[in-house]
Amino acid sequence: MDRSEIIRWLKEEDPRRLKELYLRAYAVKLKNVGNHVFFRGIIELSNICQKDCLYCGIRKSNARVERFLMSKQEILESSKSALDMQYGSLVLQSGERTDLEFVDFVEDVVREIKALRDSNNSLGITLSLGEQTQETYQRWFDAGAHRYLLRIETSNSKLYEELHPADHSFSERLNCLEVLRKVGYQVGTGVMIGLPYQTVEDLADDILFFKDKDIDMIGMGPYLVHKDTPLAESIQEDIRKKNLELGLKMIALTRIHLQDVNIAATTALQALSLSGREMGLQSGANIIMPNITHTKYRKFYQLYEDKPCLDENASLCRDCLSQRIDSIGEEIGYNQWGDSPHFLKKR
Ligand code: SAM
Ligand code: SF4
Repeated sequence: MDRSEIIRWLKEEDPRRLKELYLRAYAVKLKNVGNHVFFRGIIELSNICQKDCLYCGIRKSNARVERFLMSKQEILESSKSALDMQYGSLVLQSGERTDLEFVDFVEDVVREIKALRDSNNSLGITLSLGEQTQETYQRWFDAGAHRYLLRIETSNSKLYEELHPADHSFSERLNCLEVLRKVGYQVGTGVMIGLPYQTVEDLADDILFFKDKDIDMIGMGPYLVHKDTPLAESIQEDIRKKNLELGLKMIALTRIHLQDVNIAATTALQALSLSGREMGLQSGANIIMPNITHTKYRKFYQLYEDKPCLDENASLCRDCLSQRIDSIGEEIGYNQWGDSPHFLKKR
């Protein structure tokens, strides 16, 4: 697909034509990555953040948030529950911190997860801990993490500047993606979909950006409002339905354009519709990230309103998810890392 075709599809509103698009993307998915869904149990280990992104509910200036950092013991317990539930991988995500104490803490946690008794190095680890120095990325990689997710948020540098305070830098974020690749990670990125001031041309350019940067994994999802953020003031209409559809179109078009990468059906889709993640799988996604954070912390990690599964424990989530995945005829790749075929081919 070229840019103009991607734009045409992003503007398409006819449900029958859209169904054709999703079927086409699904066929590309079956051919390139099969019908296995891989689970990454996500642990949201801290909401302490040194940054102030204008859209995010846990930005440092939001004084209404009660801050937490999970203890190493608690993170290891959640990791063990992932093993018990036969999830092949974990995602460790948090607000951004670059201080040495945090860097040491994460390194230690990653090493201990890898050394968990009975794990046999069976848990793959993806990190999503923001912008760091090359030395930090290297230390965490050497400790055992092998995938890193750092969303570019939008590939339009001007829009990026509008969504972030002046001390945040688009070029620094780009540079981090290069460094992650150099260190040896499978590199994931993504964008928020349906942001204020974002155009369909921007979204088409995001897909071209993923291809141009040779990205291995995509984690993108609809933008959702958090009332205690500056960006909330610029939202005049109910953007939920529009953003769900745009989110699905973006998954489908990314699958068709990039073919063999891993694509997540993110929680933000589920926040917009109970079956949002299954819809994502049927539009070309192949990864799901069930939340395995202890329920006592979940309400403090709200990037946006209406976060789903706030008080559902991890095993309930697993059972409900596996039924839902069964119901659409897909299989779950239990106990497997499910690495990006695109990355594996390059090696
Ligand atoms: N702090 C790290 C970072 O920013 O890369 C990792 C955690 S951050 C919470 C993960 C992602 O959440 C961000 O990359 C952003 O795209 C997403 N996010 C934040 N606020 C959001 C919102 N209001 N709606 C949808 N996604 C949001
Ligand atoms: Fe912090 Fe990430 Fe939220 Fe930005 S998106 S405020 S870096 S947690």
